Amino acid sequence: MDDVKPIYLYAQGQRRGPYKKAEIQAMWDGGQITKDTVYWHEGMAQWTPISGLFALVTCPACKREVSSEADRCPHCGQPIKRGLLGRAGTERVLNIGCLIILMIIAFFVLVGSCSGLFR
Ligand SMILES: [Zn+2]
Repeated sequence: MDDVKPIYLYAQGQRRGPYKKAEIQAMWDGGQITKDTVYWHEGMAQWTPISGLFALVTCPACKREVSSEADRCPHCGQPIKRGLLGRAGTERVLNIGCLIILMIIAFFVLVGSCSGLFR
């Protein structure tokens, strides 16, 4: 889970942090951090634009960029739909399910061929 890693920000020539992702989310939603802010956490090769941390959607009402994790637009209060995000989550679960099924099949194939060898 990348959520547990403390995240550092670098903006206006200053390094800030560590922060939790939720804290950065709040700053992002409140407009305290801008798109040219970069972030880094342990395990990352380099500082990366903050927009990479949040999937951005365009507010249907005011056409400004809003984090897709926000419930409503911080600029005009327009509720943000999460349809796309929800679907991505379901796909991930399905992929894990397929992987487990494949592993079970592989296990039985292996056991089958081994018991054939040792018989
Ligand atoms: Zn808006």
